[in-house]
Amino acid sequence: MSTEVLAASATDVQQASASAPAQSATAEKVNLLGMSRPQMEKFFEELGEKKFRAGQVMKWIHQFFVTDFAEMTNISGKLREKLEKICEIKAPEVVHKNYSKDGTRKWVFRVGEGEGSLVETVLIPAEDKTGSRKTLCISSQVGCALDCSFCSTGKQGFQRDLTQAEIIGQLWMANYSYMEDVPVIERERSVTNVVMMGMGEPLLNYDAVLNSMRIMLDDFAYGMSKRRVTLSTSGVVPKIDQLAQDIDVALAISLHATNNQLRDELVPINKKYPLEQLIAACQRYIGKDGNESARKHVTIEYVMLDGVNDHPEHAQQMIKLLKNLPSKINLIPFNPFPHAPYGRSSRNRIISFQKTLSDAGFVCTIRQTRGDDIDAACGQLVGQVADRTRRAEQWKKKVAAQNEIIRSQG
Ligand code: SAH
Ligand code: SF4
Repeated sequence: MSTEVLAASATDVQQASASAPAQSATAEKVNLLGMSRPQMEKFFEELGEKKFRAGQVMKWIHQFFVTDFAEMTNISGKLREKLEKICEIKAPEVVHKNYSKDGTRKWVFRVGEGEGSLVETVLIPAEDKTGSRKTLCISSQVGCALDCSFCSTGKQGFQRDLTQAEIIGQLWMANYSYMEDVPVIERERSVTNVVMMGMGEPLLNYDAVLNSMRIMLDDFAYGMSKRRVTLSTSGVVPKIDQLAQDIDVALAISLHATNNQLRDELVPINKKYPLEQLIAACQRYIGKDGNESARKHVTIEYVMLDGVNDHPEHAQQMIKLLKNLPSKINLIPFNPFPHAPYGRSSRNRIISFQKTLSDAGFVCTIRQTRGDDIDAACGQLVGQVADRTRRAEQWKKKVAAQNEIIRSQG
């Protein structure tokens, strides 16, 4: 078997080569869940099968949420048997799930041994003029190496990249959670939007994230619109350019500061790729195919940190910084976590920041805090699971109370 067939990620490659047809029966099985269509077509050809089988199998996996080859009724019994021997369809293990009163759902997956090998996925429902949305916030790494000072994932440090199966497995599981009790033939996909805004920096796990997004867009899998798949990055500039070449998805930038001095402190990767380079890369991303709807603008994420980046002068700096970049700005009320060195900006402060930007002609929204009863905010994951101490519990109550006050004010 050629190694490029399964160039997805170290684990997928290991699994695949270990379970090539000639290998012993005890070898680990190939997990088909994370394979993109070209990868699966190649895999089937290597098995001596027709490559269109890949599309059929993908539909069973990603559209009918079938994990048992015996249920794939348009595939011959002989092939099903062969697949059963050497392959599997396996989502990561759910160790904890929580469905909030407001419709938010959260899953914690185990992706290795030990307390720290947990990743989280959050689904946030919303109604707007385009109908009802279900947005899934997907993780790309266990921990993160970039160490942004306001981010609990960054505080955990980096452990490892997720494999393609682990990334797409989060989307599979979220969809499946609505379909578990539905007969196979009536099953449909529920998740309408994906944001790569969970744990980790997606552009530092580039190949696995790219192939996973290809599966999201593929009509033989999730068939999602490219406008509804968003990759969020803290600013790995060369990879933004590579992404522009490789796929057409929406781009979000974690800006969080409007001058290099402050951004160096909040988002340390800024020391390597400062603001001027980042904004230029965004312009190139848009410029690459400006007429395409997925690339009409970038989303700018800006976490509101009390007294740190929320002054009127920061709003003015942002206006200058973004004046030549088609962008939509999303202000994110900071989500506190134990020992966080920051507080959340007051509601009034956030609203006046928003007003300054709106008056200057920007589309600027404030992210709703959702799922507070299950700690479900994007960028604020897993810490609570790994740290079940009394202090964390007390902290949760404090945050919930704070959110309640903000809601009643707003
Ligand atoms: N690494 C990528 C994607 C994951 S973080 C990135 O940084 O863009 C997803 C979003 O959540 C980012 O905008 C991140 O800055 C934000 N975030 C992280 N910690 C947060 C916190 N404590 N409160 C609010 N937003 C946070
Ligand atoms: Fe990593 Fe994003 Fe958190 Fe920064 S904000 S530490 S890049 S996950």
